[in-house]
Amino acid sequence: MAKDLAQIAKQKKIKYFLISFVDLFGVLRAKLVPARAIQGMQKDGAGFAGFAAWLDMTPAHPDMFAIPDPDSLMQLPWKPEVAWLAGDLHMDGRVVEASPRVALKRQVDKAAKKGYRLKTGVECEYFIINTDGTDISDPGDIQQKPCYDQSALMRRYDVISEICDSMISLGWGPYQNDHEDANGQFEMNFDYDDCLRTADKHAFFKFMVKSIAEKHGLRATFMPKPFMHLTGNGCHFHTSIWDKSGRKNQFLDPKGELGNSRLAYQFLGGILHNAQALCSIFNPTVNSYKRINAPRTLSGATWSPNAVTYGGNNRTHMVRIPDPGRFELRLMDGAVNPYLGAAAVLTAGLDGIANKRDPGKRLDIDMYAEPQKARGAKKLPLNLLDALRLTEKSKVLRAGLGDEVIDSYIKLKMQEWEDYCHHLTQWERDHTLDC
Ligand SMILES: [Mg+2]
Repeated sequence: MAKDLAQIAKQKKIKYFLISFVDLFGVLRAKLVPARAIQGMQKDGAGFAGFAAWLDMTPAHPDMFAIPDPDSLMQLPWKPEVAWLAGDLHMDGRVVEASPRVALKRQVDKAAKKGYRLKTGVECEYFIINTDGTDISDPGDIQQKPCYDQSALMRRYDVISEICDSMISLGWGPYQNDHEDANGQFEMNFDYDDCLRTADKHAFFKFMVKSIAEKHGLRATFMPKPFMHLTGNGCHFHTSIWDKSGRKNQFLDPKGELGNSRLAYQFLGGILHNAQALCSIFNPTVNSYKRINAPRTLSGATWSPNAVTYGGNNRTHMVRIPDPGRFELRLMDGAVNPYLGAAAVLTAGLDGIANKRDPGKRLDIDMYAEPQKARGAKKLPLNLLDALRLTEKSKVLRAGLGDEVIDSYIKLKMQEWEDYCHHLTQWERDHTLDC
């Protein structure tokens, strides 16, 4: 039987529930529902006007309902009288196909029918900046190579430890926090989990980091490239396929190349085969393309990929194999939609398995220093428009994610691209005024 949220409210002294959903652009939206009304909302959902969010709907559409998943419940550690719930969107008694969490659940079901279970771990990098967003918040954070800078990390101890304590209380199993490669940038790692659970945590993590930073008079951003001269915000996905019970990692094979099974390499083959089409989902904003294919940063490396390649324990490739039994997909950035990103990984991976796709030989080269050695490697799209066109054409993504998801996503993202094109930049003026 499903958990009784009204009962839980009494036990845990919850006064309010946030019944939330993530739209196609990754925006987390919610209604704040008093505990007295949760019983009805658990069954019927909280009502929304779909057009008011980034979903492919008009003002004429009927009410849309987010029906909360009781298993996603998280009590806000910094405000425990409020609890968060991830919701699945419904309209006219049916699920909204072109909505991210529903799309991921569909992929999870498809994989389950084949006896597969995707587990993911995410590394959500972020910057702590000033509240007006113009600069990093710590004037002392100026090292050329600031990665793991102990003093800069400790100057943000109050924020970082509160976030980490929160993850401990939520039972996420956090195990390390560090200053990342850009000035003002941090990363916190927590245990991997089933991909739907990780996607819920990913959505909640971004909300939590921003909320706790605000509480301390600061601001957190997951923007892919907030400062052109600094390393951008990646969001690496660690992926592995397990058996139905979730106890046996099917990527593991001690006799396989780097300890990985044939199934693992077929999955990887699917990721590489579809990488260019996946890009608009993994790198969903105009700004995303300033992180990938980027010039050297102040620290000396971008840590982001510039082509569709994989290597062993080598961070210059799009996919790294850090240990037997998992792949680190390094293409995603801080703007990736937690649900669409995971759904797209599963779609491409299942395509690789179904078609026994061969990822080719791994490249044991420094892709930043000697990219010319990766002969024939496919390039990543240079901007959002090119990426969207590749997604739109992809038969694999259409068959896997469904036409509803792809068509709605492309339609809204194309509008965003057009909006961007209606803005005159200083660069254009500098280079064209005297033409
Ligand atoms: Mg990192």
